[in-house]
Amino acid sequence: MTEKNIAKINEIFDSIQGEGPYIGYRQIFIRFCGCNLLCDYCDTEYQKGEDYTVDGLIEKLNEYDLKHIHSISLTGGEPLIQYEFLKEFLPAFKKSVNFNIKIYLETNGTLYKPLEKVVDYVDIVSMDFKIDSSAKIGDIYKNHYEFLKVCEKAKKEVFAKLVFDDNIKSFEIDECVKLANQYGISLILQPKMFKNGVAVSHEKIVQIFDKFTEKYSDVRLIGQVHKFFDIR
Ligand code: SF4
Repeated sequence: MTEKNIAKINEIFDSIQGEGPYIGYRQIFIRFCGCNLLCDYCDTEYQKGEDYTVDGLIEKLNEYDLKHIHSISLTGGEPLIQYEFLKEFLPAFKKSVNFNIKIYLETNGTLYKPLEKVVDYVDIVSMDFKIDSSAKIGDIYKNHYEFLKVCEKAKKEVFAKLVFDDNIKSFEIDECVKLANQYGISLILQPKMFKNGVAVSHEKIVQIFDKFTEKYSDVRLIGQVHKFFDIR
């Protein structure tokens, strides 16, 4: 278990956001170790990492020219696993820079209690809706409802990404639309990808997109562009 005030971080790097509505923005990515889920399509190395103190991480981030960065992406794994560290790091980091730099949280959208502890320091929440047909982790809609409730209460900008493949079920489409509609958020459909290409046929993508847009208008189809550019 991570000690309070020390984070286990897999990597820190400068790149572009490759998914969702903020695609193409320059970000510093902090990849936190550990995850509470085990998604079937997970292609992220997040187990091994180095220890960072709050001061050590702030120092590391200041090696970058932060004025030219859109936001700091907290990613993983699942960054909220290390919420005790984030609770201290985020306000200290914000205080240490004398200009506005956004905090962008990339999360699987399940750890709503930890979110409550740090949500005030987050500017943009990019959460996942996990469906069993692609992620193979069972039904976790209840966690997504609770998670969105916390975001709504804190009045945070939030959108949901949904990775799907050919096996998506009608009831999963209905559940995701119900969730997005209840909280009035954008739903980003992301076809499952292999390393070098899309793992869902063109016809199926169009069919699935149509099924969503028949039920909800705030739906966008956006792939992972960093894979096409061969950047991480
Ligand atoms: S939530 Fe993300 S990091 Fe965790 S197993 Fe699923 S895809 Fe991988």
